[in-house]
Amino acid sequence: MPDNELVDSFNRKITYLRMSVTDRCDFRCVYCMAEDMEFLPRQNILTLEELFQIAQQFVALGVQKIRLTGGEPLVRNGIVKLCGQIATLPGLRELCMSTNGSQLTHMAKPLHDAGVSRLNISLDSLNSQLFKSLTRTGDLSRVIAGIDAALAADFRHTKLNCVVLKGRNDTEVVDLVRFAIDRQLDISFIEEMPLGVITEHQRNESYCSSDEVRARLSEVFTLIKSAESTQGPSSYWRIAEAPNIRIGFISPHSHNFCGSCNRVRVTVEGRLLLCLGNEHSSDLKQILRSYPADSERLDRAIRDAMRLKPYSHHFATNGDVQILRFMNMTGG
Ligand code: SAM
Ligand code: SF4
Repeated sequence: MPDNELVDSFNRKITYLRMSVTDRCDFRCVYCMAEDMEFLPRQNILTLEELFQIAQQFVALGVQKIRLTGGEPLVRNGIVKLCGQIATLPGLRELCMSTNGSQLTHMAKPLHDAGVSRLNISLDSLNSQLFKSLTRTGDLSRVIAGIDAALAADFRHTKLNCVVLKGRNDTEVVDLVRFAIDRQLDISFIEEMPLGVITEHQRNESYCSSDEVRARLSEVFTLIKSAESTQGPSSYWRIAEAPNIRIGFISPHSHNFCGSCNRVRVTVEGRLLLCLGNEHSSDLKQILRSYPADSERLDRAIRDAMRLKPYSHHFATNGDVQILRFMNMTGG
């Protein structure tokens, strides 16, 4: 492997890092968290300096895109400053963030000024009661104000993310696309993944495939398959009625996208996870804390971990939990 790139055993080049900056969140979405979540003790969580060191090392190894996620990244103190530091790393093309949008009314502009290039904002429902029941604590009007604040702050190519649950928000997908069209935003529909043990619903009963979502949309819109890719797991479609926006489908169950995987994740505890759907990992926090100024050791640990990257995830559609960590630990 050349000095400045990361390649795994299946010859996939790793150019995309997703970093979870906190496991905490002001929402408790029913597919993501249990109601009474226990969060990690502070000393187990990477400091802002450690998060920056990791980002810096990955960019030196050829990573071009970093997404900050969580938990809710905007509840982490010091997040704007961290964004400013990461955004200026030479070689980084894009610093993106996934957020629930609840803090964007006051944070969209500072994030944009700090150099964050793109936002993904979660939006599962336009019905305030259903939104509250899906997020447990969320306030829809605040999130919509946050989306509008992102537009006002001049964020481009903002994407809405919607996890579709059968019997809950699956009947809303047309309205959500109309909302996206009104604001000229892209939107992705996500199949629920079996991450973490939840009791609020049975995942096998709530499973709604991307094909089903597309069938609903096709009753109203003319869907056209697009060959576009954002180096991510989405497959994209356009609609003849609003050709400027893209509709993405993230289908870990029904369409395996592992063959072209270009990404790895770092959890808020500093575990380098080689695949969302497997437990293969390497402990970067231990290296950072045992050898604080030794960037060579960190470099070696990241390179060595590449051979642990499995070819594929193994999510089942029968609702069985194969991965015990919750999505907020991992960063979705
Ligand atoms: N809090 C931010 C947010 O909600 O966008 C960022 C973190 S959240 C874990 C990232 C994405 O993962 C969100 O779009 C969320 O809907 C999605 N997500 C969470 N749990 C999921 C699950 N079990 N299956 C599929 N997507 C999930
Ligand atoms: Fe929080 Fe995002 Fe998980 Fe919802 S999906 S509980 S907003 S981390």
